[in-house]
Amino acid sequence: MYGTGLAKGLMLTLRHFVESYVDDVRYGFRKYHHSTDNFGIRQGTKTKGVITVQYPDEKVAVPERFRFVPFLIVEDEDHPTRAGKDWCTSCGICAKVCPPQCIWIVRGNDPNTGRPVPEPEAFFIDIDICMNCGFCAEYCPFDAIKMDHDYELASYDRTTHHIHDKERLSKPNSYWRGIAPTRAYEEMLVRGTWEHKDAAKEARRGAASSRASAPRPAAERPAAPQAEVASEASASGETAAPAPAAEGATPWTEDDAKREERRRKALERKARRAAKRGQ
Ligand code: SF4
Ligand code: SF4
Repeated sequence: MYGTGLAKGLMLTLRHFVESYVDDVRYGFRKYHHSTDNFGIRQGTKTKGVITVQYPDEKVAVPERFRFVPFLIVEDEDHPTRAGKDWCTSCGICAKVCPPQCIWIVRGNDPNTGRPVPEPEAFFIDIDICMNCGFCAEYCPFDAIKMDHDYELASYDRTTHHIHDKERLSKPNSYWRGIAPTRAYEEMLVRGTWEHKDAAKEARRGAASSRASAPRPAAERPAAPQAEVASEASASGETAAPAPAAEGATPWTEDDAKREERRRKALERKARRAAKRGQ
């Protein structure tokens, strides 16, 4: 029948109109209750009707996956060993994958040796060119660049305010964990640590060397140098037991075990291939 669609559309508009006022009454009184975030509640999925956001006094909360211009993660100021240090290693991958090419990175150099160091000396993003695609954050192998939630970046001066330098881009790790707790947790699971990959590696290395250099109990120490043990054993006709690891040597770790396992499998594969070729 002609006009059915029109009537349905009008009914929908009428429903929204009525529901808006019903919701106003339902939530309106909470507005005067200071312990209740009326606007936050009103934005929920159960809200019906249409509301007017009184921006900038009221702001719509953004979802966790919301992305605006990128920022760089630095360690928190209270980090025990790397306070304020960049997570970025200036590998340049983000600058390469950025579709509109709005990232510039200057790699840092060691002032004494002149050799490059894995941290950026300068980092710029032109936020007027950035299209908020998030590629840089997706491709960064060190989880060092993230998409921000701060969208209030308008200003009258493009040259000084819209080209973000390293200082402006840097935000502490705790900020990222605050705005995207689920994402930060997922990344932690993949990385295997809340720390930056390099920091975790350094910590493992430090723990290994302190274990190696720590004085061992007398029972664990070799009674005599290996050569002496071997000569004594040959004199007595016994087979000498393998000598304990030398003092200061890197102890056997799980990583070494995995590496050894991989090496063994690779040798087996090689042997199988050689046997096939010989058939
Ligand atoms: S932000 Fe990530 S991808 Fe970009 S240079 Fe730094 S470490 Fe590399
Ligand atoms: S969000 Fe996209 S456009 Fe913006 S800097 Fe990252 S890769 Fe480039």
